Formats: sequence, structure tokens, C-alpha cells
Amino acid sequence: MFTSMKGKKVVVTGGSKGIGKGIAQVFASQGATVAVVARNLAAAKDCVAEIKEAGGEAYAFSGDVSNRQSIENTVSSIVNNLGGIDVLCANAGIFPSKSIEDMTDDDWDTVLDTNAKGTFLTLQACLPHLKQAEYGRVVITSSITGPVTGYAGWSHYAASKAAQLGFMRTAALELADHQITVNAVMPGNVLTEGLAGLGEDYLKDMAASIPLKKLGTVEDIAYAAVFLASKEAGFITGQTLIVDGGQILPED
Ligand code: NAP
Repeated sequence: MFTSMKGKKVVVTGGSKGIGKGIAQVFASQGATVAVVARNLAAAKDCVAEIKEAGGEAYAFSGDVSNRQSIENTVSSIVNNLGGIDVLCANAGIFPSKSIEDMTDDDWDTVLDTNAKGTFLTLQACLPHLKQAEYGRVVITSSITGPVTGYAGWSHYAASKAAQLGFMRTAALELADHQITVNAVMPGNVLTEGLAGLGEDYLKDMAASIPLKKLGTVEDIAYAAVFLASKEAGFITGQTLIVDGGQILPED
């Protein structure tokens, strides 16, 4: 039996779509109050409306995780509205495809600034509030791509996802004195708006290569995040949880 999430204040970056939306919905269904953060406020509001329709409690905030001033302002607004932060799900991320040969400095920086630096900036902004929580929790959405596997066109993305894990392990050490745990989920291929944008052929090839013969759902990732944020996961820190339908297992 897991302790209820009721009363927990949960921030989900990239909460308006895809995996982040799934994380926001599942935390809300478990009784948490959720702050949904995205650059597009209208999309965040749509997500919040769906959560409320289902009986949950959530609020929408605009914010750009790659911009220090923006995410600091967003976190201030969240704390003013919710009264604190118990859980940070640092999930916002982008995955545009570009070959190494064609990649510009700007292509590289945009992905690293959003996925890796964005994780640092968001955690740093939330930290004073997580320290005041009874037990703070940070769950980072990394990926199998980079830390475990490679995929042509995603060298910058893969580097950013591996960077998140290096950051996560040291953050876990630095925050341990405050009883804050820092862990990461590593999704395989999960059907989201972002992934659908890669095209039908990509989705079919990926589903066929997964031992469980299907793409993941956003809920598959969300329940892993809820577990890592639970009171019962309090002795787990600096760890990764791969949720990929067995995609990285085959030797051939
Ligand atoms: P998605 O459907 O494209 O959604 C991305 C979310 O992030 C949106 O809410 C987007 O909203 C937000 N976002 C993007 N840039 C942002 C920024 N600078 N500041 C704040 N919010 C930002 O993507 P997804 O597939 O759910 O992926 C979510 C996370 O899971 C990413 O970290 C990704 O690397 C990881 N992941 C996904 C898969 C997969 O198969 N889908 C696999 C492994 C890992 P706005 O555009 O309005 O800001």
C-alpha cells in the first residue's frame, strides 16, 4: 500500500502535452495538486481543464525552462498560488532531428539548453521550496536514447539526455542532507504528440523492435514517476528506471 499523494504539490514541466500531461493527470488522479508548466499557456490551460473535468486539482503556468528569468518567475507564481513545492517532475524536452554534418551551433544549443540546462535551472529554482517540504522529490524524464542507445539524427538530444543523468547523480548527493531524492525515468518509445510528429514509418518500426510489440503509453511513464515520488521510495536516490517494453534487451 502506498501513502496517498493527497496534499502534495507537484510541478510538472512540459505538462501540457505527451508524457508530461500523462504525469500531471496521474498525479492529480492520486490526489496531488499539480502545477502544469509549458511555454504555451493555452495548451497548459487545456490540460488543466481536462484534469479538473476528471475531478483533479491543477493550475496552469507559462514558463520556458531554458530561460533563467522565465522559470524563476514561473516557480515564484507557483509557490504564491500553491503555497510550496513537494515534487518536481523535470520533464520538458525537445527532440528535433539533425545530422552531425548539418548541425549548427544553434541546433546544438537549443536542445542542450532546453533538455539539460533546463533541468538544472528548474531544479535550482525549485530547490528552496523542496528543502522546506517534508520529503522533497525530484523525478527527471531522461531517455534510453543517449544513456543506453543511439539513434541517427539525435546526437545533440542523446548528449542532453545523458547529461541529465550525470547531473541527477550529483544532485542526489548534494540534496541528500535535506531528505530530497533525485531520480530519473528513462522512457523508450512512448506515443506522444512529439513522437507522432516523427511519422508513421518511425512509429511502426519502433513498435516492431520492442519485445512487448507496442509503443509505451504516457501512463506507463507517469506511474513510474509517481512511484519514485512516493513516500515509500524514500531510500531510492540517484537511480534510473528504464520503462521501454524491453527495447534495450535484445542482443541481435
Ligand atoms: P512532447 O509531446 O513534444 O511534449 C513536450 C512538452 O514539453 C510540451 O508540454 C512542451 O510545451 C514542453 N516544452 C518544450 N520545450 C519547453 C521549454 N523550453 N520550456 C517549457 N516547456 C517546454 O514531448 P514528449 O514526447 O512528451 O517528451 C517529454 C519528455 O520525455 C522529453 O524530455 C523527452 O526527451 C522525453 N522522452 C520522450 C520519449 C517519447 O518516446 N515520447 C522517449 C524518451 C524520452 P510547449 O511547447 O508549450 O513549451
